[in-house]
Order: sequence, then structure tokens, then C-alpha cells
Amino acid sequence: MKIAFSAAVGADERAEWLQVLRAACPRHEWLEHWSPGQAVDVAVVANPQPGALQGLHGLRLVQSLWAGVERLLQDPTLPADVPLARMVDPAMNVAMAETAAWAVLSLHRGFFDYARQQRETRWRQLPQRRAGTVPVLVLGLGAMGRAVAARLAALGYPVSAWRRSAAVDVPLPGVQVLHGQAALAAALAGTEVLINLLPLTPDTRAILCAPLFARLPRGACVVNFARGGHLVEPDLLAALDGGHLRHALLDVFAAEPLATDHPFWTHPRVTVLPHVAALTDAHSACRVVAANLDRVERGELPWHLVDRGRGY
Ligand code: NAP
Repeated sequence: MKIAFSAAVGADERAEWLQVLRAACPRHEWLEHWSPGQAVDVAVVANPQPGALQGLHGLRLVQSLWAGVERLLQDPTLPADVPLARMVDPAMNVAMAETAAWAVLSLHRGFFDYARQQRETRWRQLPQRRAGTVPVLVLGLGAMGRAVAARLAALGYPVSAWRRSAAVDVPLPGVQVLHGQAALAAALAGTEVLINLLPLTPDTRAILCAPLFARLPRGACVVNFARGGHLVEPDLLAALDGGHLRHALLDVFAAEPLATDHPFWTHPRVTVLPHVAALTDAHSACRVVAANLDRVERGELPWHLVDRGRGY
């Protein structure tokens, strides 16, 4: 098959992706340039420039190398009738579960407080609570949310997870699955650590805002591993400065990289990560791409298709 590759990344990263993609899928012809109307079977993309796929002829699949496709969906020239698949890579799910375990353990056991105390050369022991007394709520129960909820439940935390649909598919031992606004409101009132793993859609944009923070009990912590567009930054700062929230751990931001003068960098109760909760591993991601190309070649439905109506 002919595969068009389009990625808005630096030249080195682009060359590395192409090398790994060609090695994982050697039977296919990989194109970096094409002319309008050229016949191509599949486009493999990483946040391509808007319009990059316009005019390609005969496309059977657009395969994203990134898990989040909100930017891709904003491109009005993305062919409406071509299936779009996003990246769901087991290696990324494991990485996200590890980052979430570190985050919740650090918040629950006060390790961010001890880091601050060390900077102040201050020796003070904090109460040591059991994991079973620290309720965690995960927003989103997709590829990432499932891995995170399962890992935290295995560590002994009481875990609830909120999803859009009421569907009961694979059960997650130790995880209470919730859906609907009333269930969310009730769960927030008993949550100590809130972890956002929702996709960014019109329904979820700005969900981490003052009214939601107000539903959390005093002293709760907020973790955002999903997208910067979920968070209303001034509302978070107000909730931290007013003493309602204890700590925020942020991996994603409305504008990345985070501006050097942004107040999050120096806020004593904000931990900043540079969008690393679950990095895409080119080698395992390319195996996922190869499996989907095989399915297209055999005329089968690709895995992990995006429902454009829902936005994820
Ligand atoms: P996903 O598989 O598409 O899962 C989405 C989950 O959110 C599903 O459980 C879905 O409910 C739920 N959901 C969607 N809209 C909802 C709504 N309006 N109300 C309640 N629940 C809703 O997504 P994913 O692959 O797990 O990715 C999750 C997030 O992580 C995305 O924002 C992605 O961009 C981000 N991400 C971040 C990093 C990083 O390094 N920081 C890395 C990869 C991904 P249903 O189950 O009912 O459909």
C-alpha cells in the first residue's frame, strides 16, 4: 500500500518516526511528499498541519500517532468520509498507570510536602495514613483511565471512575464505575485525589473549573494528565490560594511549553511536568500502526476508530 506520512514535529523526530515506521511496515511505500489528487491508501499522521491531507485520493484510513485527536478533528479539510483511528498503545497505558501511581502515592504520603520541607531545611513528620482511607476519582475510563484505575485499586486506594456511557463491559475489580452528572457530583464530595483522563471534547472542555473544585472537600488534590483545555487555570489558582485545594499536579497546559513567567512554575503547591505522563514509544506505537495497516489491507475494520460525533 502507499502510505502518506505527515507530522508537525522537528526534522530529527520526523526522521526517527519514518525510520521506525519503515522498519515495522517494510512492505509499504512511505511517502513524505505528494501532489494533489495522488492515490494513497492510508495517511499516518502526528498533528499534521491543517490541510496537509487535502486532495489525497482513495484514502481508506487516517491513523494518528497521538492518542488525543482533538487538533486533528478541528481541521475542516480532514476527509469526512475516511475512518480516523487514534493511537491506543498498551505501553503508553502502562506508563500512564505508573505516573498516576507515583502522583497519588506522593500526594497521599506527603512527599511533595517533604520536598518543600527539605528546601526549607525543616524536619517535620507528617501523619502516615493508609491508602484505603484516600478515595481517588478518575475522570474517564478509556484506555488510560482503565489502566490507572486498575493500578490504583491494586495499591489499595478506594477508586471510582466516571465515564460517559452507562455500558458495563470488562469489570475492573475494586473500581466503582459511575456515569451521569448526579453520580459525579456525589463522588466529588468524597474524593481526595481527582485525576483527569478525559478526552478534550466540547462536553469536557473547561470541566476542571470553580464549580467542580467547590464540590471537592477541603484539602483535595487535582491531577490533570489529559489536556490543558480541560482546566480553567485562574479557577485552579484561586482554589489553591484560598486554601480549598491542597495541591495540583499538572502535566498538560493550554499553551505548551508553559511560559517561563507562568505562575504555576513557582507556586508552592503546584507540581509541573512537561507533558510526560505517558510519552509515545515509537517502537510500540509502530507495531500498533502495522497491525492496523494489516487490517486495512485485509479489508477489515481498523482498531481504535474515533467517533467523530462524540469527538473521541
Ligand atoms: P479514551 O480511550 O478515548 O477514553 C475516554 C474516556 O472518557 C471514556 O471512558 C469515555 O466514556 C470518557 N468520556 C468521554 N467524554 C465524556 C463525558 N462527556 N463525560 C464523561 N466521560 C466521558 O481516551 P484515552 O486514550 O484514555 O486518553 C485520555 C486522555 O489522556 C486524553 O485527553 C488524551 O489526550 C490524554 N493523554 C495524555 C497523555 C500525557 O502524556 N499526558 C498521553 C496520552 C493521552 P465512555 O467509556 O463511556 O466512552
